[in-house]
Amino acid sequence: AKARGRNGYCFYAPEMSGEGVARLQLETYLRRSIEKNEIFLHYQPQVEIDTGRLIGVEALVRWNHPQLGLVPPARFIPLAEDTGFINQLGQWVLYEACRQMVRWQEAGLTVPKIAVNLSVRQFERGTIGDMVRGILRETGLAPQRLQLEVTESVIMNTGDALAFINDLHAIGVSLAIDDFGTGYSSLAYLKQMPVQTLKIDRSFIKDISTDVNDEAIAIAIIQLGKSMNLSVIAEGVETDQQAAFLRRHGCNHAQGYLYSRPVAPDELLLRWND
Ligand code: C2E
Ligand code: CA
Ligand code: CA
Ligand code: CA
Repeated sequence: AKARGRNGYCFYAPEMSGEGVARLQLETYLRRSIEKNEIFLHYQPQVEIDTGRLIGVEALVRWNHPQLGLVPPARFIPLAEDTGFINQLGQWVLYEACRQMVRWQEAGLTVPKIAVNLSVRQFERGTIGDMVRGILRETGLAPQRLQLEVTESVIMNTGDALAFINDLHAIGVSLAIDDFGTGYSSLAYLKQMPVQTLKIDRSFIKDISTDVNDEAIAIAIIQLGKSMNLSVIAEGVETDQQAAFLRRHGCNHAQGYLYSRPVAPDELLLRWND
């Protein structure tokens, strides 16, 4: 039987059973994840294909819940976005990522650059510039060493995106368009943006040596980047064949399991310190 609320509305909506309850539970857990120290970052190297040199790392958030275990970002990021928790989470991630750059430095490893993902909702409050400025000041990280990754949907779905992007650019941080080619940003828009990097989405890299369409798209993005004077990095590079293809077509920057999975800070230090 359905219980009726004060106004006669059903408050046990049918979707509250099963998946809805699980979602609500997850939401409750997620809200407390930061204070319970369940959130941490892994870092995935970005390399120069030619030399294998480390050119940067991408910070990727991880959530380890005592009962649920590791919850994949694909599950909790959308939830965090829906509930607005992404603002708190995003701020935590940015602070931690910048702090880690300083820690590596102190341990003798200079990581040239750190890339941090931003969600569209982090632009809603209009204070993203202040947040970034504040965190750089607190951690002492030079703005030139921070790259912010936004998807095309951030650019297309944020009112006044250009103003925010310009504000971030003025701080001295660089900007990358993540998952490039999967959204639908107009190229005219891209031209106005002070963006430095395009990241070719993994979906185009996956079958690059067998699918002629993916091949054509990857080449087109590399060419576009070149002609607009942007650096281009390929994500999800898993095989030598893919790397060779990219190199042959003028893309010398890559990120993917071929080089390293996302790893804990100490592991990065061990593997790349020399
Ligand atoms: P993304 O930004 O496109 O990140 C790249 C994803 O691809 C990561 O998944 C990474 O582990 C995975 N990956 C990297 N190389 C390879 C490869 O060679 N093969 C395959 N199969 N996968 C590869 P992850 O860490 O599960 O993150 C998934 C998504 O969650 C990210 O996609 C990003 O959209 C979001 N995300 C992660 N951390 C954050 C964060 O701190 N803030 C926000 N807003 N989003 C985040
Ligand atoms: Ca990313
Ligand atoms: Ca990406
Ligand atoms: Ca992606």
